[in-house]
Amino acid sequence: MKSKIRLHFDGKDVPGREQTVLEPAGCGPDVAKVEDIPVLKKVFVDVRLDVDDTRLPLLQKLLLAYKVDWSEDRWDEYTDEEYEAAPLIRVTSTNEVSVIGGPRFDTEYDLSSACPACGAGMRQTGAYVLDGTYGESVAKLAQFRAVDSYGEILVDESLAKTLEDAGLSGLSFRSVYARQEDFQKVKLRWRQMWASHTLPPMSPRSTGIVRDKVCKSCGRSKFETTSPERFVYRAQDLVGAQDVNWMWEHFGFVRWSGDLTTAVVWQPDFLVTPKVWRIFRDAGVTGFQWLPIRVVEDE
Ligand SMILES: [Zn+2]
Repeated sequence: MKSKIRLHFDGKDVPGREQTVLEPAGCGPDVAKVEDIPVLKKVFVDVRLDVDDTRLPLLQKLLLAYKVDWSEDRWDEYTDEEYEAAPLIRVTSTNEVSVIGGPRFDTEYDLSSACPACGAGMRQTGAYVLDGTYGESVAKLAQFRAVDSYGEILVDESLAKTLEDAGLSGLSFRSVYARQEDFQKVKLRWRQMWASHTLPPMSPRSTGIVRDKVCKSCGRSKFETTSPERFVYRAQDLVGAQDVNWMWEHFGFVRWSGDLTTAVVWQPDFLVTPKVWRIFRDAGVTGFQWLPIRVVEDE
């Protein structure tokens, strides 16, 4: 694993422009991208380094000296070997592959065990329904082999077949429909991934988790994250884990008044074995992020 950092600032904030700090810090075009955007009257400077790169403290010191405001974000990059060795890998998506669907489009749910405050724990009982009227969503189905809809992963028929043929444990599929303007539902050649097993809550040793907004009623939803995220489970939590599992926690935005027609409820993320990661990689699936979890001995 490599811990990476990105520094971002406006080149126009530096007296004499960005090279005043980039050059003495030794940050050449291999790590520093400079983009002049005249319409915004800004020069975007984006520097990406390993966190232990000796150029990092140099650059930070120079930016401070010239009183330049900058932003930083950090993340971890994993090698294929590290993914292969991971006990489980958390799958999340980027906006690039997200499509609109769920309760507001007539997907059916059993609310008997849903949290009254946030809806977490509601159980989908029928096929998954997408918004077939939203062009941007529909276009993604032609462009990608796998898409995300509020935590649900939808895969095209042939990727579903590859996953099915791999004999993965804990995985089944549901049908996917698109609701049209006239409220008719059209069946798509897509399948929704479904897990039979849900893992227990993560170990409190996990970092990068923000718990400030967690639902006061059920403690299960509205988790937020800051990067780098490092998710930890106790060894005993993984007893019974399958190739495809759900997390216990729900991340992200929630809109819930008890009425499905206005609800936005993010479902828990998937935790999968390297077998699943490999199938997605070999199928050329893009737009998803993969985070190997860590396991600690039982406390
Ligand atoms: Zn709740």
